[in-house]
Amino acid sequence: MGNMIIDGKQIAQHLKEEIREQVQQLATQNGRKPRLDVIIVGENPASKTYVRSKINATEFCGMDGELIALPKTTSQEELLRIIRDLNENEAVDGILVQLPLPKHIDEQEVIHAIAPEKDVDGFHPENVARLWLNQPAIVPCTPMGIMELLKQTHTPLAGRHAVVVGRSNIVGKPIAKLLLDENCTVTIAHSRTSDLAQICREADILVVAVGRSHLITGEMIKPGATVIDVGINRTEDGKLVGDVDFESASKVAGAITPVPGGVGPMTIAMLMRNTYQCYVSRISNE
Ligand code: NDP
Repeated sequence: MGNMIIDGKQIAQHLKEEIREQVQQLATQNGRKPRLDVIIVGENPASKTYVRSKINATEFCGMDGELIALPKTTSQEELLRIIRDLNENEAVDGILVQLPLPKHIDEQEVIHAIAPEKDVDGFHPENVARLWLNQPAIVPCTPMGIMELLKQTHTPLAGRHAVVVGRSNIVGKPIAKLLLDENCTVTIAHSRTSDLAQICREADILVVAVGRSHLITGEMIKPGATVIDVGINRTEDGKLVGDVDFESASKVAGAITPVPGGVGPMTIAMLMRNTYQCYVSRISNE
């Protein structure tokens, strides 16, 4: 059994280089660069790392990236006011509010306040509805990154059984929809699923987005299956691991993403693509 380790880092790097070239061309023609504004509220260390990599990626792609770091005491009203200002700011193409937000802020209200055409995370109800109705939509970055990995590794999808473990709005539900659009037969498993192992063993494509290290082991994987590990977990000694026990799983899978270096970098690359696309639709409307 050939087991391929899917190099998300390298694939993401190529995608960002492509975007950088496209940005260069259009920015000269149009006299301005794409701009992404990233808002972070509070001091969550993981969130701080993520926003830093997002801003670094904008720089790499030749875009403007603004980091708006707000104290955790910021009121919901204040945050909504900042978002409304960015909605109206003609220089801003994309707005991203890093989740989770402090408990006193209603995440859904905040997401709802972002102008749908600047909603680069694709979390606004209008974009969610558009995705599920097969209308042009901004699609969430992680699921799109997963589809790009499957595409670039030439993974056959039509007629295959895809099992998605996890049903969040951010990963599980949208990736299930995208796999369905590619004519997979899709099963969504979650914390109440009975006999997870048996269901996983039936998967030709197994996408795991839970947030529990070692949830999926080699004996839960069909020989030759493609395994996409979305999970990001920190071990006691500070190492990053996924939801899949890479050691045992990589011996059975036909192809598997590592953590780190799999889905994570693809998420960022897709954020750049979404930002670029928001920019393109805005300049063509100017
Ligand atoms: P959520 O916590 O929102 O959702 C987790 C899902 O896993 C839920 O649907 C939950 O089920 C399910 N679940 C929990 N325990 C089990 C179990 N024992 N067996 C089966 N299913 C279970 O997480 P997210 O979707 O936001 O994120 C998932 C993971 O992916 C996290 O580790 C996160 O850090 C990572 N992540 C990585 C990204 C990247 O770019 N690489 C981007 C986004 C997330 P139920 O609905 O029943 O509670």
